Formats: sequence, C-alpha cells, structure tokens
Amino acid sequence: MADSVLIIDDSEAVRDKIVKTLEPLDLFARFYQAEDGLEGFKKLMASPVDIILCDLEMPRMDGFKFLGMLKTRPEVSDTPVIILTGNEDRELKIKGLDQGACDFLTKPFDPEELVARMKVHLKIKHLQDDLKRTNELLLELSNTDHLTGLFNRRFLIEALDKELQRARRKDGMVSLVMIDLDHFKRINDTHGHMQGDVVLQKVALQMQKELRNYDVAARYGGEEFVAILPDTALKEAYMVADRIRLSIQGMHLAGPMAVERITASLGVAVYPSPHYEDIDGLLRSADEALYQAKARGRNQVVVSDPASMT
Ligand code: GH3
Ligand code: MG
Ligand code: MG
Ligand code: MG
Repeated sequence: MADSVLIIDDSEAVRDKIVKTLEPLDLFARFYQAEDGLEGFKKLMASPVDIILCDLEMPRMDGFKFLGMLKTRPEVSDTPVIILTGNEDRELKIKGLDQGACDFLTKPFDPEELVARMKVHLKIKHLQDDLKRTNELLLELSNTDHLTGLFNRRFLIEALDKELQRARRKDGMVSLVMIDLDHFKRINDTHGHMQGDVVLQKVALQMQKELRNYDVAARYGGEEFVAILPDTALKEAYMVADRIRLSIQGMHLAGPMAVERITASLGVAVYPSPHYEDIDGLLRSADEALYQAKARGRNQVVVSDPASMT
C-alpha cells in the first residue's frame, strides 16, 4: 500500500488514536500529522496525500479555513477530506460538507466506522485518479480541438502527409489555406478571453460552411486555422479562401461584441510547386503569404507564387 494520510487535529490524543487505529491495517505507507489548518496545509503542499482527516475546531486556522484554502490549489483540491466534529452539531457537519468535505466522523469516533469510511473514500479517490489519467490519455490520442470541434494540429499534419503522398502518386495537387484573425489580442483585451473563445468557435463554423466534405479544417494554433483542399488548384483555392474571408467579415456577434467586426488575413499555397517539396515547405509558403496579407493591410487573401495561378 503506497497511500498516505494527513491527520489534522489540535489534540495529540485524537491524532494518536487515529494512527493507532489505522497503523495495523496496512492501509497507509505514510502518516502525516498537523496541529492546525495552516500546518496541515503546509505539510500537504510539501507532500500531497491520498486522504485527509481534519478537525473543525482548532486554534489559529480552523477546518473551514483549511477547506477554503484547499479549493484554491488545483493540484490538491481533489483530495478527499473527512471532517472530525467534536460534537453532534448538525449545522457544522452540513457546513463542512458544503465547503467541500466528502464525509464526517463524530468524536469520539468508532474505530471500525473510521476504517470503513476511509476505505470507501480511498476507493473513490483511486477511481477518480484512474479516470483522470484515462482522460489525459484520450486527449493526447484525440484528433479534435476541444474548443472548436475542428481537427487539431496533430491530425492536420497526418492528413497533410497523406494528401501529399496521394498527390505524388496520382500526379494530383493539394492546396492549403492558412488563416490568422486580425488584431485578435484587442478582442480578448476588450471583451475577455472567454468571449474571444466564442469568436473562435464562430469562425470555425463559418470556415466549415465554406468547405467541402473532403476538405480538412483544423485549428492550427490559438487563433490560427488551416484548411487542406485536396484536388484543388491555386486559383480555386484563392476563391475558397476569399469566401471564408467574407463570411468571417460578415459574422454577427451577440451582446457587447455586436459592435465588433472580425476580419482575418489568409495565405494560400499549393503542392506541387517548383519552390518546395515537402509539408514544411508548403506550410512555410502559406505562412509567408499570410504574412504578406498582414503587411498589406489585413482582411485579405494573398497567394504564394501568383505566377503559377492559371
Ligand atoms: P495580427 O493581426 O497581427 O494577427 O494581431 P493579433 O492581435 O491577432 O496577434 P497574434 O496573431 O500574434 O496574436 C494572437 C492572439 O490571439 C494572442 C492571444 O491573445 C489570442 N489567442 C491565442 N489563442 C487564444 C485562445 O485559445 N483563445 C482566445 N480567446 N484568444 C487566444
Ligand atoms: Mg496568430
Ligand atoms: Mg500574428
Ligand atoms: Mg492574429
């Protein structure tokens, strides 16, 4: 058993009794003890534990303050806390649970009940930890950007790799459109990051509306998007890009953002090209065109190598 427990109580007798009850059970590898909330919090920050037993009434920092502090630290805020109430006070128990405790025990506690409750909450804690790990793994493996529902950068690179191989095999072509919103920092600064995110979601929708089913729309970075257009020459890609530009410019936003006009600058490049032969070259070329679009005044589309447009 590698689990650890933190016992916070101003009475040494109570702490001793808890340790004596738990020690022979092989439930915990480590026991930490503290005399009040502040000492408990410091010990917890130094070494996170799997479960906490916490008295409510203590000098200096009491159990409620401890629960409040716990909430402010995401790295430990999910640690289950069982509160120890010195009396039968129903209000205190309810308040403790309300503040984030997972359970309570009334002192003097029944050792068997203590053990039973500890086991239940450790089990829940372990299930939660497993779930968190699984979610992290899924996120890593996933192809979607969670804010917009578009494909993420990882998938984009994979898809681009396949399209380039296909173009090589079949003597075909593939175009790439890179989009960066104009002066987007100002939107965040004026309306907040959350509202900024709403704009990103709307842009993603507009972009999808202008694309065909077999095109790939991805969120490339913060407020940068990329579309892969298979079997599309530069001239057609330019027209698609300009439609996307117009639909972004025409977006209507709700609430305080209604006064804002969102615009974007777009760069377009095609494969194959005499100037590059791989994904990096294609991306760089679209990025350079995008940079030109910014330099020329934004809210416009620039194609790389316009001479090759037929
Ligand atoms: P420019 O016209 O030169 O592109 O100006 P800009 O302000 O858009 O500048 P830039 O593209 O360099 O910066 C992008 C800004 O977008 C920075 C950041 O505040 C914002 N941003 C990036 N990712 C996100 C996100 O996920 N959500 C929100 N709301 N904003 C983001
Ligand atoms: Mg940007
Ligand atoms: Mg930029
Ligand atoms: Mg920008």
